[in-house]
Amino acid sequence: MEIVKNSGPITGDQIAEKLSLTRATLRHDLAILTMAGLLEARPRVGYFHSGKSPYRVVAEKLRSVLVDSVLSIPVVVSENCSVYDAVVTMFIKDVGTLFVVKDVGLLEGVISRKDLLKTTLGGHDIHQLPVGVIMTRMPNILYTTPEESAWSAAKKIITHEVDALPVVRKTILSDGSEGLEVIGRLSKTNIARLFVELGERC
Ligand code: ADP
Repeated sequence: MEIVKNSGPITGDQIAEKLSLTRATLRHDLAILTMAGLLEARPRVGYFHSGKSPYRVVAEKLRSVLVDSVLSIPVVVSENCSVYDAVVTMFIKDVGTLFVVKDVGLLEGVISRKDLLKTTLGGHDIHQLPVGVIMTRMPNILYTTPEESAWSAAKKIITHEVDALPVVRKTILSDGSEGLEVIGRLSKTNIARLFVELGERC
């Protein structure tokens, strides 16, 4: 990188000569730096520095991944579902966040593990109490869309200190108003998985 920065454009043979190596030995290194976007190569001209820092290359890659490609299936319950059934659903489906929906899957609320724990400690009859009473309700729900970048959605999760976001699609209801249909779930696990996958690809 230093040689190309100082002497570019420079051919592969010239770089090899400066390093006292053969061109063949350098081939893979140059290919990796070019694929990573740190170097650019022009036929008959040679290699030159793309001007991008390694961090910028990583940031560009991260921002190019869309929520659509990392989301999970949402686990939803209705507002009338009891707190007891919500706890059972969390265990069976192995998730930490449930989305509360009405009609054809329209977003109404979110229930987290601690919402349920708090209610249980409060001495309520959890078989009778509906989740609609304890959930965080619209319009106070943070959500994402399939078209948003996974990076920007992850920033919402970190900034607002929540574990998951419903992935929604805007839909026009029969009365002409706008609703949010829940079509996915983006959790901290999805982001951690993406992080691992991106690291493996390098
Ligand atoms: P936990 O409470 O189990 O640590 P969270 O940090 O996700 O899980 O939830 C904290 C609070 O924020 C809870 O009261 C929950 O209902 C609410 N919450 C969770 N996800 C969202 C979201 N996407 N939008 C708005 N509020 C949320």
